[in-house]
Amino acid sequence: MRHRGKSKFLHCAVIILLGAVMAAGCTTGKPRYRIGVSQPSSDAWRSQMNEEIQRELLFHPEIEVLFRSADDDSQLQADQIAEFVKEGVDLIIVSPNEAEGLSEVIRSADARGIPVLVFDRKVDSRNYRTYLELDNTGLGRAAGEYMGNLTGGNADVIEIRGLEGSSPAAERHAGFMEGISGMPGIRVVASEAGDWNSDRAYRLADSLLELHPETDAFYAHNDTMALGISRALKARGAEGVRILGTDGTPSLGMRAVKEGRIDATFIYPTMGDMVLRTATDILEGKPVARNIHIPALTAVDKSNVDILLRQDELLREETSKLMTMKRYHDLSEQRRRSQIWLNVILGAVLAAGIAGICLLVKLIRQKVRYQELITEKNKMLEHERDKQKELYRQLDEATNAKLVFFTNVSHDLRTPLTLITGAIDQLASTAPLTEAERPIVVAARKNASILRRLIDEVLDFRKYQGGKLSLQPSEVPVVPMVQEWTEAFRSLARKRDIDLSFHAAPELPRSVAFDALKIERVFYNLLSNAFKYSPDNSRITVSLSSHADTLYIKVADNGIGISPEEQARIFDRFYQVNQIRPTGSGIGLSLAKVIAEMHDGALTVESEKGKGSVFTLALPIRHMDMEAEGVASSVQPGELALSSPFSVGLPDAPVIDAAKPLVLAVDDNPDILLLVSRILGDACNVVTVSNPRTGLKLAAKYVPDLIILDIMMPDIDGIELCGMLKRETATSHIPVLMLTACRLDEQRAQSYSNGADGYVSKPFDVEVLRTRCSSLIENRVRIRKHLLESAPQAPAPEGAATQRAGGNPLERESDFYRRFMETVEAHHTDSRTTTDKLAAELGLSGTQLTRKIKALSNYSPIEILKKYRLQKARRLMAATDKGISEIAYEVGFTSPPYLTKCFKDTYGQTPSEYRASLG
Ligand code: ADP
Repeated sequence: MRHRGKSKFLHCAVIILLGAVMAAGCTTGKPRYRIGVSQPSSDAWRSQMNEEIQRELLFHPEIEVLFRSADDDSQLQADQIAEFVKEGVDLIIVSPNEAEGLSEVIRSADARGIPVLVFDRKVDSRNYRTYLELDNTGLGRAAGEYMGNLTGGNADVIEIRGLEGSSPAAERHAGFMEGISGMPGIRVVASEAGDWNSDRAYRLADSLLELHPETDAFYAHNDTMALGISRALKARGAEGVRILGTDGTPSLGMRAVKEGRIDATFIYPTMGDMVLRTATDILEGKPVARNIHIPALTAVDKSNVDILLRQDELLREETSKLMTMKRYHDLSEQRRRSQIWLNVILGAVLAAGIAGICLLVKLIRQKVRYQELITEKNKMLEHERDKQKELYRQLDEATNAKLVFFTNVSHDLRTPLTLITGAIDQLASTAPLTEAERPIVVAARKNASILRRLIDEVLDFRKYQGGKLSLQPSEVPVVPMVQEWTEAFRSLARKRDIDLSFHAAPELPRSVAFDALKIERVFYNLLSNAFKYSPDNSRITVSLSSHADTLYIKVADNGIGISPEEQARIFDRFYQVNQIRPTGSGIGLSLAKVIAEMHDGALTVESEKGKGSVFTLALPIRHMDMEAEGVASSVQPGELALSSPFSVGLPDAPVIDAAKPLVLAVDDNPDILLLVSRILGDACNVVTVSNPRTGLKLAAKYVPDLIILDIMMPDIDGIELCGMLKRETATSHIPVLMLTACRLDEQRAQSYSNGADGYVSKPFDVEVLRTRCSSLIENRVRIRKHLLESAPQAPAPEGAATQRAGGNPLERESDFYRRFMETVEAHHTDSRTTTDKLAAELGLSGTQLTRKIKALSNYSPIEILKKYRLQKARRLMAATDKGISEIAYEVGFTSPPYLTKCFKDTYGQTPSEYRASLG
């Protein structure tokens, strides 16, 4: 578009400039006609004539004249005329050197339509347009008659003629003879051709005077020859001999007369002006006669030469003025033309400028339009981008929703899986299995493990996405461990005739610290992929090696292999080479790589399509810093959760036994409740409830020693329930163990912030649950000990009062215990004080207070009150003189003998014995 605009602009500019040039061309006055003038020679007469033509040209700016002189050479003249014809002049003016010799060239000019104007001399051709004939005969006649008058009719005369064969020479001769014909005294003693030439005339005159010494006069056909004769006479010293010349040009003939070198000359009119006018008329198509006769003019002698020369001078002056004027005119004309040019150029520049501005405006408009277009496009692009963003967001949301759904499903799978594994564990540990049953139980257990592994993989992946995947490293005996992992695939290898081999380099470290569960998962993924993507009868090799500080676990197969492009992508999440018939989840390798990198290691692949693959897991060789870890952990082969030995049998139903701690389990899944009561029933009294609200009530009622809560429950979830329990004075001291399929750490954190004391995720290991429960109950004992030590059966010491109740269960409970002891102190003097009264003071029921105080101190509230009274009584006995009875009533005993009995029971002596012992 811009190109088209530019070319349009150039087009305009060229047109404008062309117009200007044409306009200027019109005003340059370029000649319309070109005339060729061919002179036979360049003597004075010819020069005079040429000057006259030039003068006449002043009035004919439309005519250009080209002058040529043949220098008395007829052939040269013919050539020059031919040249005029060739150049295509509009008219040719010819004065023939000789009558013959030009007919051909004149004919060719005529044939080309070029008119030929012959003047002065005749030509033997009929093809000329006009002949301007000068009266040469008249001229000769006037000379003859003048000769008669000059010499008184008696004289010997020598005639020097022009070129032999030229018409003027012949006619002048004839005229001269005619002029003297009436004068017999005039005798022409000699007549020779001088060829119009001065030197030749000189030599002729000299030699003829030798022959005719009595000669009185000479008649020369032109002034040039007359002057030659004059020189000859002068040289000879001949005086009184008269000379008549011809032509009478001011510069030669007239000057010779004035200087007395010749006696007279006869004007042969040059008529250059007339010749040009006639030519112009012919060119303009005016009627011009074919033959024009020009009469001869008068003689020039001493009597009129001055006037004529003066006239000539004046004419020259006028001509000069005219020429000057012409120059001025030309100059001003030139200026005018320059001005016009300037105006034209200015006009052109202006026009170009306007065109340029128009173009600029157009370009600006175009640019604005382009910009508008671009802005519009940008808007569209932005819109598209927003749309795409929205799509990505929706896609992300959808993916996320899928993942959340997937995670939730995985959670839901964990509970039944726990039940399955629990059931299998029980089955394995109860009756001895028959040979036929054992492989079934083993297969069931193995498949449950696989299922659990897959679920863990998905959940770990979610954890990794949430940035919450963490490592639990332990010192692992790497060779036996990896070998054991490999052996797990042995039966599969056997079934598919795959040669599965294990190699360990000799100098491997005994153990390496890593998260055994996670590395097992990586290894499992690599090995199961090797099996998945290898045909039967192939070979799979697991090898262990080390170099520097790195341990290499290699899994090599000679299966289908992976192309280089696919190799670059298999570690991307959800990427599967076979998209059409996927054989897995596509997260295995991406999670494996993440786990390797979390260990500061790497997972790489070398593979060739159709030849097989080698996956290398590189792990830094590190060891646990036992002290820093506090509790050193080490794993032994076969000790991992997945393969841990099954627990022993469980009692069928909980039996209330006061010696055993009471556990309350709240879970909406009755199967889980059953499993829990079976696991814990041995060591505890287990009360189970599926409704959380009922659970809350039962907790307040029984004030159990441990509460097990499921997190995901309808109505009130486990976390909320835990918070409620912890806020209740009656239950705040009870340890709470969260039990859930939800493995996400945020839930764990939330549970802890709500006061949970422990966390076990489903599917749980029987032993793990049992240990966690007993350790939590144990913890109570620790608290109890602490309370008993820091707050004995006396009002809390000074320091304890300033202790704030915090989130720490120990602090929280010592705060409660301090408040209880303050209540005891306030009411111990009153013998009617009961557990219920104390409980009411603390906002609890009697039973709750009893269970809670019992849990905290191992004593009932009444026992503590009694102990407190006894302690106080003992202090009073030691510090005062008060009587035993008085003291008994003061510390709230109903009677002095009861005090004595209790005192004796507690301290081994009666109050009197005690006082006596004090001295
Ligand atoms: P999947 O659950 O699909 O096996 P992975 O992340 O474990 O997902 O593996 C990603 C892809 O890498 C697989 O779908 C498979 O195409 C390719 N792959 C992994 N291991 C091997 C192997 N040993 N030989 C050939 N292809 C393999």
